[in-house]
Amino acid sequence: MRISEHVYLVGSEQFGISHPLDCSCYLLDGGSALGLIDTGLGLGVDDILANIKAHGFDLQKLTHILITHAHAGHWGGALELRKHSNAQIWVHEFGADAMANIADDPGIQLNIKFRRYPAGFIPSPCPPDRTLSDGDSITIGNIDVRAILTQGHTKDSVCYLFNDGNKRGLFTGDVVFYGGKLGLLNLEGFSMEDYRRDIRKLAELKIDMLLPGHGVFMLSRGQNHLKRAIDKLSDFIMPETFFETNELMWDKDYLRLMSD
Ligand SMILES: [Zn+2]
Repeated sequence: MRISEHVYLVGSEQFGISHPLDCSCYLLDGGSALGLIDTGLGLGVDDILANIKAHGFDLQKLTHILITHAHAGHWGGALELRKHSNAQIWVHEFGADAMANIADDPGIQLNIKFRRYPAGFIPSPCPPDRTLSDGDSITIGNIDVRAILTQGHTKDSVCYLFNDGNKRGLFTGDVVFYGGKLGLLNLEGFSMEDYRRDIRKLAELKIDMLLPGHGVFMLSRGQNHLKRAIDKLSDFIMPETFFETNELMWDKDYLRLMSD
């Protein structure tokens, strides 16, 4: 699904274009090279590959897979996608261990315990090829992408800032969603203190497009959604969590009905 001059949605639960356990996966068209932002859990790789090809892209031009954070729903397809492309897999340095050693990942273990994965499924471990630090720039063809470490949802959460023609976009992973909702979790690595501190890094970006890891994306006025998130984290009242209201993602009945 083409959503702007240089961005395509190629994987997503909510838009029904890949597996119901996939996050939103975006393809960034840099002309001579392509980037994929997040890969889904791994069960929708065939759909993602087909969606990329359906837009006429050559998979051999896919040189970068940028992971927003090391939760398996965002990187689990990386190993398989790398086999079908020339991509190197990038993640913030704090996420590298989680992608390589899934036995210790509390999120994966809880998803297995609560039967959110199909029976017998385990994400394929995937040590990244490259690691990022806060402020790093990555060049994908004719597009420069800047990594902004925005801790809170996890210790390794990165937002990726880029220019798309005369628009400015931000891939936010699970940091900020539509309406300024936040990725609050009861999980190791999450920190309200980190969130309060780092959300301010997003205050002056002047983005048009807000491209989150789940649900609705915005093609204009994206900064307003960042502002609401910053305002929420400036008050003492507990903000809304995106996940509480995202019943499609977490409701077991939905998965049983829709995954087959
Ligand atoms: Zn997450």
